[in-house]
Amino acid sequence: MRSHHGETSEAIYLTQGYVYATAESAEARFKGDEPGFIYSRYANPTVDMFEKRMCALEGAEDARATASGMAAVSAALLCSVKAGDHVVAARALFGSCRWIIETLMPKYGIETTLVDGTKLDQWQDAVRPNTKLFFLESPTNPTLEVVDIAAVAKIANSIGARVVVDNVFATPLQQKPLELGAHIVVYSATKHIDGQGRCLGGVILSDKEWIDKNLHDYFRHTGPSLSPFNAWTLLKGLETLPLRVRQQTESAGRIADWLAEHSGISRVIYPGRKDHPQADIVARQMKGGSTLVCFDTKGGKKAAFALSNALEIIKISNNLGDAKSLITHPATTTHKNLTDEARAELGIGPGTLRLSVGLEDVDDLIEDLDRALKAAG
Ligand SMILES: *Cc1c(COP(=O)(O)O)cnc(C)c1O
Repeated sequence: MRSHHGETSEAIYLTQGYVYATAESAEARFKGDEPGFIYSRYANPTVDMFEKRMCALEGAEDARATASGMAAVSAALLCSVKAGDHVVAARALFGSCRWIIETLMPKYGIETTLVDGTKLDQWQDAVRPNTKLFFLESPTNPTLEVVDIAAVAKIANSIGARVVVDNVFATPLQQKPLELGAHIVVYSATKHIDGQGRCLGGVILSDKEWIDKNLHDYFRHTGPSLSPFNAWTLLKGLETLPLRVRQQTESAGRIADWLAEHSGISRVIYPGRKDHPQADIVARQMKGGSTLVCFDTKGGKKAAFALSNALEIIKISNNLGDAKSLITHPATTTHKNLTDEARAELGIGPGTLRLSVGLEDVDDLIEDLDRALKAAG
């Protein structure tokens, strides 16, 4: 959407509000009889451009952009349920998502059950008469397990529940949950969509009816709105998203294969490798692998720390999807709040590392890992 100046790069409409030519026009806009913006907590031209482009990319009817990924997840989940409803979620969730399911929802009288998302019978067995919502992430953080979205959606549809998919790890390029039968897709745009470490953002995508009925009022009155400046930054990110994701996925695949052959590594999980635990589902539901690799060092925490500390190009960070390669030790950072048993259930050991592969030269990255593995013994 260009202004009358015909600019190449989208304009930033950094405004809180809008003015009206007449009192009649203000009245008509508030009534919904006249199109146009009212207040940037509701909608803003730059944010609107980002939402429309996300809809085109995802194949969704409508969207709302949010200030962070967690604003997207919490709004999508909370606007869908009320006290007395029941939610089933896969237990391999991003930490804050798990807090919403395990801690926040029960506080407001919403019943929740966590299941092993890869076991279809657990989804089925968790269903109660008041089950309204399924929530899952795939591939999961950090062990990159893959949930059969179409099969989970089938169970949900049979009981009239809706499925929310946190599609961050797959990106809109590698997996289309709406095509697989899910009803709502959420993203942390902070990750691959920005992909250059600049700003937080999120987006919720679904059909127009669900957004109008469930999200519209919730969104307006709780105010998780995205800043127009950040929407503009994310629009810039979208311009290179396919190129970045393709390159990062290709590099991650090569690094996964290289790690799998290394004597210091006991396990590599990479969607796209034949030895992935759900290789058949990956082939069915994803267009490509992942920009992330999960692996275990043989020497446990000591070796994982030594390896991380010896890396020069790859940086230690809990972020992911960035143009810069980042390595995380989940047990002591992103998943430190879980009990040892909960971590073991998710397959996170003391030697587990999550590598988010960036845009650096892949041979340089392999050399960095090789040298660091030698230094770690
Ligand atoms: C990062 C992330 C979130 C939260 O996004 P923020 O932008 O940090 O709020 C939610 N889900 C997944 C899978 C994530 O990786």
